[in-house]
Amino acid sequence: MTTVLVTGATGFIAGHCIADLLAHGYAVRASVRDLRRAPVDHLRQLAAEAGRDLELVEASLDSDDGWDAACDGCDVVLHVASPNPKNAPTSEDEVIRPAVDGTLRVLRAAARSHTVRRVVLTSSSDAVTAGRPKADHTVRTEADWADAAAAAPYSRSKVLAEQAAWAFVRDTDLELVTVVPSLVLGPLQRTESRASMETVRLLLAGELPMVPPLGFAVVDVRDVATAHRLAMEVPEAAGPRYIVAGEAIWMDEIARLLAEEFGPRGYKIPTRRMPFWVMWIVARFDRRVRLALPYANRPALLSSAKAQRELGWAGRATRRTIVDAADSLLNAGVVRRPA
Ligand code: NDP
Repeated sequence: MTTVLVTGATGFIAGHCIADLLAHGYAVRASVRDLRRAPVDHLRQLAAEAGRDLELVEASLDSDDGWDAACDGCDVVLHVASPNPKNAPTSEDEVIRPAVDGTLRVLRAAARSHTVRRVVLTSSSDAVTAGRPKADHTVRTEADWADAAAAAPYSRSKVLAEQAAWAFVRDTDLELVTVVPSLVLGPLQRTESRASMETVRLLLAGELPMVPPLGFAVVDVRDVATAHRLAMEVPEAAGPRYIVAGEAIWMDEIARLLAEEFGPRGYKIPTRRMPFWVMWIVARFDRRVRLALPYANRPALLSSAKAQRELGWAGRATRRTIVDAADSLLNAGVVRRPA
């Protein structure tokens, strides 16, 4: 039986990868950085429901400890763990060092194991688009790379980690595949919200007076999990990057969609698009808006054609993903229901 190590088991995407692997009959070993404190009851429950064992191991991206034992005996590693903070990082070390050094730690241990043949790395569409000129409206593909020097720290962490991974495997027998998702939304497995769900949370909770002119290409977390599995299963997948992203959508379109679904239930969802000049003024006082400013008025144009063609991957309708994401924020109690 194929044994798969999934790193960062407490995470949004990794949790869904684990659920998908268990449902498809794989033996799963999953890493967390602190075995005593990691909230993983939901994963144990999933494993019990699937009639499988879930082996948990301890390893941090900040230390070499534990990675050899984590990789030993595994056939494939899905390296998903990487800092994805809800608030913009204050220092590059917060995100870049764990992302890059952590990826190399995992890859070195995988190469030393002599059992791991393929590593699937979770990259990001930021590694394709970040730092690109705003006026450039070409549809981006796997051939494109972000401009790391012009990118914000989180985006830079993703470019540098992916590039470090490609450079590392060149001199090894390891196969590397990278999955390159855009904005990942969908059902939460835990009651705590995650960074990428902020877009939906802010709208559903009515915390924004107007909607910033930000463009996204939403992809469902369940479809991202499927993409990771296909990237490890399809023999020919070794070598390339695979973008998994939905159609370009503006944040005010997401807002209107939520308003249609949740407005009749009493939720006050803002739908008015914020003019760029207002965003520019707000950015002077609000750091989060300041960091979003370079992304304003920029549509997220990404092609998933390669994943569809070569992996047989397909994403579900964006509307379904957004509604399921919102429902799960309500069920988790992250957003309060109207009185
Ligand atoms: P989460 O924040 O939900 O998960 C991140 C995971 O990484 C957590 O398990 C976290 O562990 C772990 N982690 C962070 N720092 C360390 C560290 N120093 N040592 C060990 N583990 C660490 O994020 P997502 O699931 O959303 O993201 C997962 C991956 O997908 C990341 O690589 C992210 O960059 C990428 N991605 C996400 C997108 C999105 O929209 N969500 C879009 C594109 C890419 P702990 O719980 O202990 O903090």
